[in-house]
This record gives sequence, structure tokens and C-alpha cells, in this order.
Amino acid sequence: MSTPTIGVLALQGDVREHLAVLAEADALARPVRRPEELDEIDGLVIPGGESTTMSKLAVVFGMLEPLRAFVRAGKPVYGTCAGMIMVADKLLDARDDQETFGGVDMIVRRNAFGRQNESFEAAIDVAGIPGGPVEGVFIRAPWVESVGGAVEVLATYDGHTVAVRQGNVLATSFHPELTGDHRVHALFVDMVRRARD
Ligand code: GLN
Repeated sequence: MSTPTIGVLALQGDVREHLAVLAEADALARPVRRPEELDEIDGLVIPGGESTTMSKLAVVFGMLEPLRAFVRAGKPVYGTCAGMIMVADKLLDARDDQETFGGVDMIVRRNAFGRQNESFEAAIDVAGIPGGPVEGVFIRAPWVESVGGAVEVLATYDGHTVAVRQGNVLATSFHPELTGDHRVHALFVDMVRRARD
């Protein structure tokens, strides 16, 4: 099996951290800003950051429809935090004009944990990740308010869903790229390999 090429959407957010972790998780990692660059990757990470800004920049850079098509085509996508918001089919506590790429039949509430607690860390058990809980770093994080029947809930915290998968789309409310633990990225790299091979 050859090394998969995984892009990190580089419109806004913590792009560099994801590129570094993907490289350590045995992927060729590269930033992606233009529609034609989507043709050169086997999977895509949407980083944390600010989803309102990411949504606006996606429109400005002509990336909104190409990214929707990428998800619809079944290409693997992993969204962390703001990236989770961007793969939600519906949002709560978002501006009316905030666009998403969609892909997961879920309703995500922006800044859901943020109102109570701006930023915190917690041990999170994620289904499909062996070796004990991962350290979840939550920064003005969203949670998943509800999911459709095709969505697998992979992790909860304090009664709220914080990790999901639907087909080839994975999303976490937290930021594994900030912890030095590569297991969530390794799961995604494995999803990309299986989708491609
Ligand atoms: N609150 C941010 C948003 O709504 C997400 C925060 C993050 O990605 N750490 O986009």
C-alpha cells in the first residue's frame, strides 16, 4: 500500500499542526486552497479555527461547491472543531448566511461548550481507537445536538456527542492535532487508505 496524500484545507485555522501530525501518521500532507488541488488528494482534513471566517473564505476562493462535491463523491474528510461545523448538514447558533460543506446528517451547535467553559481538556473514549481515552482539547467547541440514522456516534462527553462518523466523513469537537497523540489521525489515515485501495 502506498502512502496516501491528504490535504489540509488552508483557508484559515490551525493548518500547520494538522500537516505535522499527518506526516507523523504516515501520510503525505499538503495544504489545499484551490479547487484543482482537490483532484490531487485522497482525503482532506478541515482544521479548527473560526467556521464563520472559513465559510466566507470558501466562497471567496471558489471552494464551496468543489468541497461539497468532494464530500458527495465519498472522498474521506475529517473535520476538527470548526471543521466539524463545516461538515454538518445543519447548524444552531450560527449566522443565517453561514455555509457548510455538509456530509454528516447532524445538527451542530456552535460554541456550545464555550458558553459554559471557553476551553478545557478531558479524557475521551473514542469508539474504534484502541489504547485508552484520547486527550480531548476543547476550544470554544461545538457539540452535536442530534444525528440522523446513518451517523455513528463515536464519543460523548458530559452527555453530549463530540465525535461522529458517517461513511467516509469523520468529525470531532476537539483538537487531537494539539496533543502529540496521533491515534485519531491514524484512524483517519486508515479510512483514507481503505477508501482508495
Ligand atoms: N467556535 C469556533 C467556530 O464556531 C470553533 C472553535 C475552534 O475551532 N477551536 O468556528
